[in-house]
Amino acid sequence: MTTYTDTRLLINGQWADAASGKTIDVANPATGKVIGKVAHAGIADLDRALASAQRGFEAWRLVPANERAGIMRKAAALMRERAPDIASLLTQEQGKPLAEARVEVLAAADIIEWFADEGRRIYGRIVPSRNLGAQQLVLKEPVGPVAAFTPWNFPINQAVRKIAAALATGCSILVKAPEETPASPAALLQAFVDAGVPAGTVNLVYGDPAEISAYLIPHPIIRKVTFTGSTQVGKQLAALAGLHMKRVTMELGGHAPVIVCEDADIDVAVKASASAKFRNAGQVCIAPTRFLVHNSIRSAFAKALVAHAQGLTIGDGMATGTTLGPLANPRRLSAMAKVTEDALARGAKVETGGECFGSVGNFYMPTVLNDVPLDADVFNNEPFGPVAAIRGFDTLDEAILEANRLPYGLAGYAFTRSISTLHALSYRLELGMLWVNQPATPSPEMPFGGVKDSGYGSEGGPEALESYLVTKAVSVMAM
Ligand code: NAD
Repeated sequence: MTTYTDTRLLINGQWADAASGKTIDVANPATGKVIGKVAHAGIADLDRALASAQRGFEAWRLVPANERAGIMRKAAALMRERAPDIASLLTQEQGKPLAEARVEVLAAADIIEWFADEGRRIYGRIVPSRNLGAQQLVLKEPVGPVAAFTPWNFPINQAVRKIAAALATGCSILVKAPEETPASPAALLQAFVDAGVPAGTVNLVYGDPAEISAYLIPHPIIRKVTFTGSTQVGKQLAALAGLHMKRVTMELGGHAPVIVCEDADIDVAVKASASAKFRNAGQVCIAPTRFLVHNSIRSAFAKALVAHAQGLTIGDGMATGTTLGPLANPRRLSAMAKVTEDALARGAKVETGGECFGSVGNFYMPTVLNDVPLDADVFNNEPFGPVAAIRGFDTLDEAILEANRLPYGLAGYAFTRSISTLHALSYRLELGMLWVNQPATPSPEMPFGGVKDSGYGSEGGPEALESYLVTKAVSVMAM
């Protein structure tokens, strides 16, 4: 399928245009051409969506956990069935190769199923009382309607982790999905509607992100806020949520160190970190970004990374054989040009790439920079694009010090054959997630989240459900 559909708002189980009729154009990043429109919600639409989320919560919280799981499993099955069509929408609006888009859709089905099952195992507890005539219960209850803000790099994956955790715990959700990539998250919510969630359980709006977050976060109907995006915006939203005493999960930027030790298997290190680096054109919060390579193997590592980068096929994600699509929007293209120029001006060397590709669409060559000085922008701010920056180290302490230097603490990678090095890295790196001798392999059963400026809370594992629950202590005296 190569058709693309316009996207409307989902309120009270119905798809609707904005009350004002206002829309935003959606462009294909591979061609720059407008391919559709998305409805732009105003305050009147937000009020209707809030009332819908409240009604949805009142209905969904009363559905027993095993029935909730059944409906969620149906939504997962629909995602699998519709994967080819949804992947096509995703590639056309976001740019990633069709094969990657398909993986994202199928992963969503897997995530929904895991949360559906885990939702059946939300237990309270009975606490022995100091008075034998009394019983003390600890109950776990859904926090209430959730406001979720999700980004354009993984339009389905970043939304489904929030939706599945909210629904598994009995919460309703109001998602503000990305205006630049609206159709694929809409298809995700459609799967829940078709699976039979009560009207208002899942709601979807688009519009002006700042206006929507400023309205929804303080609103008394919203009980929890969850955001994935940049650290800068995350801090603003967390501050607003704090002011209104709302529960918060923040999945923010990262700047993942990749520590390649003297004893690493270079083939494994390059294969694992290069595929993670260039997936989704590097627009991944857990993408490897700061390559710290032991000086004894640095030139061999750089050579192999360059060979990998040069072996990628750049093109429209819809074309067969494409392994590196365009950047999702023109902002990223100028950001890549800026970080490369800055690194060169400070003395770094371009091993490959370093420029735009072609004159149509947002294509940037897979780029490897070597000898990158610590003061280069690319070694301090998340590049969020297909640029790998390498510098050398001589001692493990030096590598750990550099890895921990930045305020970010999301993902990290390490390659070593030594158990003692592995232990040192596991204990000393300030990160939320560490992958050793392998690429990133996030799964719904493992915690997913960061520390320091990369945010707080988790979007995987039992911890993900905990953040959508409140605890009630009940003490009952027998009469
Ligand atoms: P941005 O910082 O303006 O936006 C990032 C995301 O936040 C977008 O989805 C946007 O719609 C949303 N957003 C922005 N302001 C908001 C507000 N006031 N209220 C609610 N949502 C708001 O810039 P951008 O150009 O879209 O992305 C730039 C940077 O964002 C990237 O370099 C990267 O660091 C970060 N980012 C991170 C992730 C992630 O997965 N953690 C995803 C996308 C972008």
